[in-house]
Amino acid sequence: MILSDQSRDTIFAPATAPGRAGVAVLRISGPRAGGALEALAGRLPSPRRATLADLRHPASGERLDQALALWFPAPASFTGEDVAELQIHGGPAILAALLEALGGLEGLRLATPGEFTRRAFDKGKLDLTQVEGLADLLAAETEAQRRAALRQLDGALGEACRGWSKRVSEALAFLEASIDFIDDELPPDVIARMRVKAAGVGAEIAAALAQAEHGERLRLGWRVAILGAPNAGKSTLLNALTQRRAAIVSDRPGTTRDAIEAAVEIDGLPVTLIDTAGLRETEDEIEREGVTRARELAAGADLRIFLLAPDAPPPENVFNLFLNGDLVLANKADLGPLPPLGDVSRETIPPPLPVSLRDPAGAVQVAALLKARILAGGADPSAALLTRARHKAALSLAAEALARFDDLAAQSEADDAAGLIAYPELAAEELRAALAALGEVTGRVGVEALLDIVFSEFCLGK
Ligand code: GDP
Repeated sequence: MILSDQSRDTIFAPATAPGRAGVAVLRISGPRAGGALEALAGRLPSPRRATLADLRHPASGERLDQALALWFPAPASFTGEDVAELQIHGGPAILAALLEALGGLEGLRLATPGEFTRRAFDKGKLDLTQVEGLADLLAAETEAQRRAALRQLDGALGEACRGWSKRVSEALAFLEASIDFIDDELPPDVIARMRVKAAGVGAEIAAALAQAEHGERLRLGWRVAILGAPNAGKSTLLNALTQRRAAIVSDRPGTTRDAIEAAVEIDGLPVTLIDTAGLRETEDEIEREGVTRARELAAGADLRIFLLAPDAPPPENVFNLFLNGDLVLANKADLGPLPPLGDVSRETIPPPLPVSLRDPAGAVQVAALLKARILAGGADPSAALLTRARHKAALSLAAEALARFDDLAAQSEADDAAGLIAYPELAAEELRAALAALGEVTGRVGVEALLDIVFSEFCLGK
């Protein structure tokens, strides 16, 4: 008996979301995909040509659907294996009948979530950053998210890492040559050459790391807390920006007792708005709890909007939460100017900007301000190479190892007229550490444990 290896199984799954639709797509991948397609359609279509086919139950011969069949022989397919794709009519009963028919074929089984992509990774069709890019693309809800995910799926980050690895490997080759060869066979400037390569990579990684915050925020959304006294217009602002009635707007102070979060898109950027409980001294226990939570949420947000109004003076100590870059707005400008802010130091906060949130133009104005503040003069976040904490962690390790290497090399250059690196094994170790960290980003090195985490983001049929 031959024991079957799971990865040699032929797998199938719907590639489209469940439910009724015009068309549904069914995907089969593995060594028996061709046989399965033949069993259903009667014959194997020409490779990569959409072919109209009657699909019949392999056992009963009953006609199940009329479909478009596509045949992608290995290795030119998504998974790198033989792949058959069926564009069937999108009715649940058709899909169910076909899944049942495929399940009855020997050597075929339903795919687990992410298994198609896992196979593409195993066959070297996608590196780990591209797998993440694909997951992000499937999850993208805004324009900028889509752009960034597509860039990553195209391999921008993977290519950068491979380029860096190549240059670090070259530095390592120089170093190993200097260990193996005797002095006079070495070019005189070997240390300088290694340093140029390693430091160049280090600088590029540092630049990518500087943008990492933007890349990660773009994936997860910027968190913006709206702070102000009850009645200042927080819910009005939230509703205007979400363009739906997510929070309860009312004239009675203290209506919003807990924080309400709403995901909005501001000019392509994903933003989570947090409408905090009205910050004020209160005897009401539930409301007091809300106030404490509001403060915590506000402190943890990426940006705060302080909302003041003539009939809602700022709560005590609210400006303790102010950080540079936050927005201070004087709402209800239509009711007149704000009364003086009392003992708030003019130096701590910028002059409140008059707006009227009841007026749709007021909300547009705030959205534009918000976008400018979120980006804070930074570059287009969808151009950021790094999008995950995982990338940041690995590349930080690489940058640190390269910096330690440079210290050693600089020291040797200063100390040794012969141009030989002191502690060459130690220096080589640093370069290898940098290479390992770079390999981890693309999934080339020691990432078994990581793979399960990355692939668990996918759903069935991906
Ligand atoms: P919150 O308690 O901070 O969430 O405040 P709300 O959003 O519930 O607003 C309190 C009241 O102020 C509501 O009656 C709003 O309609 C009103 N309001 C909000 N913005 C404006 C504005 O720009 N001008 C005027 N006159 N009233 C406003």
